[in-house]
Formats: sequence, structure tokens, C-alpha cells
Amino acid sequence: MYNRLMAIVYLSLGSNIGDRVGYIQQATSLLSAHQDINIVTTSSFYETEPWGMESENWFVNAVIQITTTLSPESLLDECQRIETQLGRKRNGQGYSDRTIDIDIIFYDKLIFNNKRLTIPHKYFHKRVFMLVPMLEIADDFVHPFFGKTVSSLYEAIEEPEMVYLYGTRI
Ligand code: ADP
Ligand code: MG
Repeated sequence: MYNRLMAIVYLSLGSNIGDRVGYIQQATSLLSAHQDINIVTTSSFYETEPWGMESENWFVNAVIQITTTLSPESLLDECQRIETQLGRKRNGQGYSDRTIDIDIIFYDKLIFNNKRLTIPHKYFHKRVFMLVPMLEIADDFVHPFFGKTVSSLYEAIEEPEMVYLYGTRI
């Protein structure tokens, strides 16, 4: 069992169908309604092209910083409960359109890996749609596995995909 101390956690929220901003806001408020979760900071909304999937529906993404006494696995349970509550359907294979996706990026400095959960998030350092909102709220956070700041991980990406502040896409 993980300890009961307060952890600082970064979550990635993304939506590419329906009222995308509304789903992210609803997910944030459902998280904050949990007695063991506090929302500390939220990034702006960003719009990004679908990554690793065939879809015409662009994503809105954001990153939030929370504090929680939940263990990583209980937090994942809670994120998945909220995804289901907001109408997320899982088709079982590969990436698909979603009302809401909630991923755990970092949980303090924890490095953890089991069948259900990989922390830090396995693709954080490759995904501009996670890196850019993180740059806004925690650019000097050090990735516990790579030992590099969010800024330097972002700078290491050779051809970053475009990420637009929501509302600025032409
Ligand atoms: P994706 O987020 O990759 O689009 P899903 O949301 O369907 O896809 O997640 C697939 C599985 O990834 C989940 O069932 C969960 O067990 C697992 N998973 C592994 N690491 C994480 C993490 N850090 N945050 C959220 N889910 C994770
Ligand atoms: Mg997910």
C-alpha cells in the first residue's frame, strides 16, 4: 500500500468529441468533488491534432495539478469512474474518439509500473499536447525517470507538432 501522505500529481485531460472544453471542465469539477482530491492549478486549453489515431476530430487538452491522499491505483480508479460517468466508451483496441481521457502524468517523484499503470506516463516526453500545457504550469518539474525538466524534454523534440492555444487555430 502506498503511503497516505499528500502527493502532488499532474493529470492530462483530453477530449475530441462533443463539448470538448465542457467535458474537461466537468471532469475537473468531478475530481474536485472527491474529498481526497484538491485541484491546485489548471493550464489553459490547447487544441491539438489527433496523435497516433485516425480521426478528423481535433482534441482539446489541458493539464491540471492536484494534491491527493489517494494511492496511484485508487486515483486511476477515480479517473476511470469519471471517464465512464462522462460517457466514455472503450472499444477495446487502439485509440478512439473520446468524450474524456484522464491520464496520470506524474505522481510526486514516483516511478511505478504494473499491468494497469505506468508512472510517469509512458509517452509524456513525446507528446507535445502534454508537454506544452505542462510547460505553462510546471516548466521546471524534473521528470523522475529521465532526470530532465519539462522544458528540456520539450526542447529535445525535433519537429514538435503544432499545439494551439484554444481559440487561436486559423
Ligand atoms: P489512452 O489514455 O492511452 O488513450 P486509455 O485511456 O483507454 O487509453 O487507457 C488504457 C489503459 O492505460 C488504462 O486502462 C490504464 O490501465 C492504462 N494506464 C497505464 N498507465 C496509465 C497512466 N499513467 N494514466 C492512465 N492510464 C494508464
Ligand atoms: Mg487514458
